[in-house]
Amino acid sequence: MWHKLTKDSLELFTNKQLEVNIKHNRRVSPNTAKAVLYNQTIQITYHTDLDNAPVQVQQGLIELLCSKLFKQKWVSDNVHAYHTFIQNVSLPDKSKCPRLKQTFHNNNDQFFGGLIDTCTIKWGRRSVSKLASYNYNSDTITVSTIFKNAPDNMLAYIVYHEMLHKWYGYKIGQRCTAHTKEFKIAEAKFPNSTLLEKQIKLFAQNQARHR
Ligand SMILES: [Zn+2]
Repeated sequence: MWHKLTKDSLELFTNKQLEVNIKHNRRVSPNTAKAVLYNQTIQITYHTDLDNAPVQVQQGLIELLCSKLFKQKWVSDNVHAYHTFIQNVSLPDKSKCPRLKQTFHNNNDQFFGGLIDTCTIKWGRRSVSKLASYNYNSDTITVSTIFKNAPDNMLAYIVYHEMLHKWYGYKIGQRCTAHTKEFKIAEAKFPNSTLLEKQIKLFAQNQARHR
């Protein structure tokens, strides 16, 4: 099945006859796959769980990977189906830190009417440049460990920003415009957001100096 999907997708991007090599494991991120091109072979490694996904979703993922490999912009119903799928699939909550979990839930109640589905929230690396991130594929918020000693409202604001990414989702073809006007207006609703922005900058600079 995956073999045929890949053959079909390749035809959209190249005239070359490439060999297709399909692998699956649980080491790639959930609901994703990797594609590499070597010699005359394209190798796809997908997460085993995707065997249970609808064919259109699998096709969309393969098309996305091919479009990246061949550096072509590509939008189709299949790709759309894949994006919708990864936004709606429920992944296990792997959160371990009670403080992060609590922060997520407090924000959810206070700003989103409790409407955001629980997702994994965890500490990442000690980074002063990448303070936090939200990964759509694994539905995970990751926060730099520098915030382990930050005040509650600062941590809450950092988490709130990432929750907004989850809330507004991923708009096809607008990947680079994650911080839309709509997003920024919502972000500014957090109490003392302007002040917190400044404090976070200083806090990160301080952490950089004392590492
Ligand atoms: Zn952001």
